[in-house]
Amino acid sequence: MLTPARETRRARWEDVLKAPSFAYLRASSLAQVFDALAEHGEDARILAGGQSLVPALNMRLSEPRLLIDINPIAALTGIERRGGMLRIGALTRHSEVGASPLVARLAPLIHQAIPHIAHPAIRNRGTFGGSLAQADPAAELPACVLALDAVLHLASRRGERAVSARDFFRALYETALAPDEVITAIDVPVAPQGTRSVFVELARRRGDYALVGLAAEAREVGLRLVFFGVGNKPVEAGAASAALAAGITAERIAAAQAALARDLDPPGDLQADGATKLHLARVLLGRAARALMAA
Ligand SMILES: Cc1cc2nc3c(=O)[nH]c(=O)nc-3n(C[C@H](O)[C@H](O)[C@H](O)COP(=O)(O)OP(=O)(O)OC[C@H]3O[C@@H](n4cnc5c(N)ncnc54)[C@H](O)[C@@H]3O)c2cc1C
Repeated sequence: MLTPARETRRARWEDVLKAPSFAYLRASSLAQVFDALAEHGEDARILAGGQSLVPALNMRLSEPRLLIDINPIAALTGIERRGGMLRIGALTRHSEVGASPLVARLAPLIHQAIPHIAHPAIRNRGTFGGSLAQADPAAELPACVLALDAVLHLASRRGERAVSARDFFRALYETALAPDEVITAIDVPVAPQGTRSVFVELARRRGDYALVGLAAEAREVGLRLVFFGVGNKPVEAGAASAALAAGITAERIAAAQAALARDLDPPGDLQADGATKLHLARVLLGRAARALMAA
């Protein structure tokens, strides 16, 4: 029999590490998901890879009454070329995206980013759409889809709509997704010949969320620089990229690093203060620009 002190310790342990009770629906079709979301609204959560949702449940940061498991819906997975777009199903695992020759050839920025996401066990479960829906400001994929001008396909019982990455990320963990909507797929414009991509990040340990990161894509039409870990959502650095518009040289890299103060005003967090983050962003910009110059 447990002593009262041990009983209390066990109760606290369970409070911290066990999810609240919830109902579970293993959905076999999108129609079933739409109906359940329409009926339960904010009380329901979609379960994809569970790599963000399950820890949040266990820490009681989220207490949905119903989990809707979309894993059996095969139509949500896969990667294929559709004309000028690369379509990635929302339920496609990070590991599958990372191993895809199509992604390596047609969306090299995403190919470079995937190994920076957590560890293999998490990449084997976590999904592309889940990462975008979660919209963690320090996550790699939101920055990539913004740099690449990707389009997210959202669907609900009310119909379907396409939202550009630029309009999707709104604030801290806040997106354009309505409570009854599901991300079904993401269309990434195919990288034209001559595209140069560089993905760099700094983290305290390999696999940790980034302190600061940068997704950089140089195309004939211009250079896109999107930083993450520096605000409440991915941030496009327009002033820095304008400083490099006439071509990348050592002098222009210095000018772009100075201009970054106009693009970024990073808030401090548990890992670093704002000034340190701005300094690290400048370091990454220098590394990425030199890599683009050499490519
Ligand atoms: C230890 C650890 C380290 C990690 N490190 C990193 C890291 O360095 N970088 C990084 O980016 N991520 C990291 N992650 C998170 C990981 O990438 C997750 O896989 C990802 O954030 C969420 O994807 P998921 O499929 O697991 O989504 P879930 O956890 O299942 O869901 C996350 C949220 O998205 C919603 N959702 C999921 N799919 C959809 C959909 N199709 N439509 C609408 N809503 C949906 C869910 O309802 C939930 O609110 C880490 C996770 C762990 C546990």
